[in-house]
Amino acid sequence: MPMRAPVITRLRRCVVALLVPALLVGAAPARAQPAGLPDLGDTAAVELSPRLEQRLGEAIMADGRRDPTYVDDPAIRQYLTTLGRDLAARGSGVASVEVFAIRDPSINAFAMPGGYIGIHSGLVLSTQNESELAGVVAHEIGHVGQRHVARRMAQQNQSSMLLLGMMAAALAAAAAGAGDLAQGAAVFGQAAAVNSQLSFSRDAEREADRVGLQMMTAAGFDPAGMSSMFGRMAQSGRFNTGAGPSYASTHPMSIERMSDMQNLSRASAVQAPRQSDTYWFVRAKLAVLQSGYSRAADPVGMLRAEASSHSGARAAAAHYGVAYGLLQRRDPAGARAAWQQAVAEGVQHPMLDQLGAELDLAENNVAAATQHAQAGAARWPQDRALAITEARMLQRAGRDAEAVQKLEPRLEQWGSDEPVLYRMAAESLARLGDPVREKRYMAEYYALVGALPASLIQLQQARAATHEFHEQSVLDARIAETKRRIEDDRAFTQKFER
Ligand SMILES: [Zn+2]
Repeated sequence: MPMRAPVITRLRRCVVALLVPALLVGAAPARAQPAGLPDLGDTAAVELSPRLEQRLGEAIMADGRRDPTYVDDPAIRQYLTTLGRDLAARGSGVASVEVFAIRDPSINAFAMPGGYIGIHSGLVLSTQNESELAGVVAHEIGHVGQRHVARRMAQQNQSSMLLLGMMAAALAAAAAGAGDLAQGAAVFGQAAAVNSQLSFSRDAEREADRVGLQMMTAAGFDPAGMSSMFGRMAQSGRFNTGAGPSYASTHPMSIERMSDMQNLSRASAVQAPRQSDTYWFVRAKLAVLQSGYSRAADPVGMLRAEASSHSGARAAAAHYGVAYGLLQRRDPAGARAAWQQAVAEGVQHPMLDQLGAELDLAENNVAAATQHAQAGAARWPQDRALAITEARMLQRAGRDAEAVQKLEPRLEQWGSDEPVLYRMAAESLARLGDPVREKRYMAEYYALVGALPASLIQLQQARAATHEFHEQSVLDARIAETKRRIEDDRAFTQKFER
């Protein structure tokens, strides 16, 4: 397999050299030399077609999912992406949306090409209800739907060229990688930083507001959530506990913009706006996950105070957050006590059941953990985190055949959002001695996380291991398709070679 390492290295070096002075991202690698714009060859002539936009977005996200700031949590991922897709389905024209959280206390959000929307944990924590969060997500989807993101990428200014270069570096790394997932381009953090500092035109902002408000209203959120969120961000920097740039700086609040927003939301006020319990649970979990990346005080203390000043779902969620935080600190007894307080609020929630199983496991009670996870998964059949936990507990208990039985319908249903389901099924199949299915599932896993060469190797191994005619022809077709996709990626990244 020919390696493209020199291209990646060269691109990465240029990117690092340019970004270090611009973003003050910390110590520059010793080899980084100050340089001008990278020579991006024919980049300026590149048309950013929707298909290419999608592929670049996938490549940068393949890199992003390994970034330490990426919140790799199935419950949070399901909540945010479901919220985004629900909004996008209300006439935005956006076909594909994935919303993910970034561990960062600064209040910011950004949209990447391909419908990938990043929300900083600090932004989620600064919202006061679900409609405010929906306001920001809807606004970002508005930018995607109006093709602002794609149009900005096609501009020939320094930032756009830089972003395109970084995304191409991620794509080159994906096309070159021979199975080693650790070999990413490591440009996601920089791409996210550049993205979140770029502003759109005033007209684009107002268009995103307008489209976003329509989506919010159609989805049953309070449209006033958008103006209260943007208004509060503009008025006060005190919510911004991080050192990074803020959403308010790329989204200046003019008098016209505010009055447009208010007029539009008055015209379409929603009677009883949506407010899910999950919003509070996700917010509490993010408070814990953000700590360590934040100068802010201890999240457990903050959540305890929140629990004592509220009741119902919000209190249960805060107790849940305390329990989750204490479990992270290896205090299972304290975590158990807080979990019981959450249960005592009388609120039932899949995240509470999932944590219950984790607590059993921390107490070394695999049997109880398995039972808890199975009961939870049966009770909340649409919850992906519980489904993953259930399979993981069955695997721990040595019940691989049952784990595969549980995983197979779920990977059909959710595999593209949770590729780990394929990997888990492959792991059980390896232990059960079924190499063909094992390798086929690993191939799916690698393809979904953007590692096409690794996927190809698995498919070829599966092909060599099977003697069944139908399976052979299915695999032959998949092998041909994967080769074609790898060639497409190479053809594009070659435009960056000189
Ligand atoms: Zn905007």
